[in-house]
Amino acid sequence: MKCPLCKTPSLDATVLAPDLEGCICGECNGVWIARTKYDAWRKRLPKDIPETASDAEFSVNDTRVAKICPQCGHLLLPYRVGHGLAFSIDYCGACGGVWCDRNEWDAIKARNLHDNLHDIVSAHWQNAVRRADVDAAVEQTYRRVLGDAYDKAAEVREWLRNEPRRSTLLAYLSDTQRPE
Ligand SMILES: [Zn+2]
Ligand SMILES: [Zn+2]
Repeated sequence: MKCPLCKTPSLDATVLAPDLEGCICGECNGVWIARTKYDAWRKRLPKDIPETASDAEFSVNDTRVAKICPQCGHLLLPYRVGHGLAFSIDYCGACGGVWCDRNEWDAIKARNLHDNLHDIVSAHWQNAVRRADVDAAVEQTYRRVLGDAYDKAAEVREWLRNEPRRSTLLAYLSDTQRPE
């Protein structure tokens, strides 16, 4: 099997997680995860591993070049991971294998998303990642427009979110006609 990046015929067996074997390229350190092995590993997991926050920084090398599946020769397509991770994994729609560039697997694993590879390549997950992008852009715009009032406004909004008297409070806040 050849590395989809380096094209060198040298992918070596490696352990990606307890009981999960993958292949690693000695040149670029990318890893290949075959669908059959991954599915077998997933089945043996007693339950879903809950997602966790992680501050661990990985210097990920998210290569954007088109890649060919090392296993079956089809095109690998990029799928964004989201959830605080800015890179994409490369997925083969034909054989279901996944290519992770250097350190991507470790970054995914640090957040316990490594049992979610099938979810990540689903339309549902991809839509949610795009929605999160839009939300972040809107928030960024508010931050810019509101300037130094933003932090206070964000705090009040957060408080109002779960406040049962929300509509009355909003009416009170917008009622600026009344004399002091
Ligand atoms: Zn390589
Ligand atoms: Zn394939």
